[in-house]
Amino acid sequence: MPVNKEKYQQILLELKGKAELIAVSKTKSLEHIQALYDLGQRDFGENYVQELMEKQEKLPGDIRWHFIGHLQKNKVKYIASFIHLIQSVDSFALLKEINKQALKNDRIIHCLLQIHIAKEETKFGLDINELKDLVNSPELNTLKNIKITGLMGMASFSNDENLIRTELMYLKKIFDKNKAFSFFNYQLSTLSMGMSGDYKIALEEGSNLVRIGSLLFGNRN
Ligand SMILES: *Cc1c(COP(=O)(O)O)cnc(C)c1O
Repeated sequence: MPVNKEKYQQILLELKGKAELIAVSKTKSLEHIQALYDLGQRDFGENYVQELMEKQEKLPGDIRWHFIGHLQKNKVKYIASFIHLIQSVDSFALLKEINKQALKNDRIIHCLLQIHIAKEETKFGLDINELKDLVNSPELNTLKNIKITGLMGMASFSNDENLIRTELMYLKKIFDKNKAFSFFNYQLSTLSMGMSGDYKIALEEGSNLVRIGSLLFGNRN
């Protein structure tokens, strides 16, 4: 069995009424994804454009694909026709490019802004000042083919539960503050936080969308 069915069903029960599940399928085969699809899962997350394009072409058309990795501007065009949610927007330039490609495809692409909350330098994302600048940019309301629907963040890879909780609480605080106002293309309702190692903490801290890979598919090589 390429997926852990018991774990999948257990997680669905834990999330029920609180959060949606994105199954993170990066590096996993078509068979892995199909097996989870056959159990009813429709939302899958991928980190690499080339890999996502190949999978999207071969797998059922009603899968909702989420992009959760660092996205280069010059690659947006390859996923713009089908992507369901881009969770990892980390610059205004990227947002503009997504808008341009969405317009070409005559659609509106939903986006989450990725916020940098971990201690590690390596994690992508906007800091609080960059978020403020982006939201206050006078150009934002010219982007008619994107909609910012929430925030995404990744806590530190750590065994320190208190550190993880502190980082996730910080993201929740930013989310609540920025939820208070909205425009036609900016209305926060999704808080994407929590992975295999920290989704229980994330749920306690107010996540309503978790991204889980290894618990469902086994460890990646
Ligand atoms: C890989 C990845 C995940 C899933 O990680 P697991 O620990 O396997 O659950 C979640 N979010 C992002 C952004 C990822 O890159």
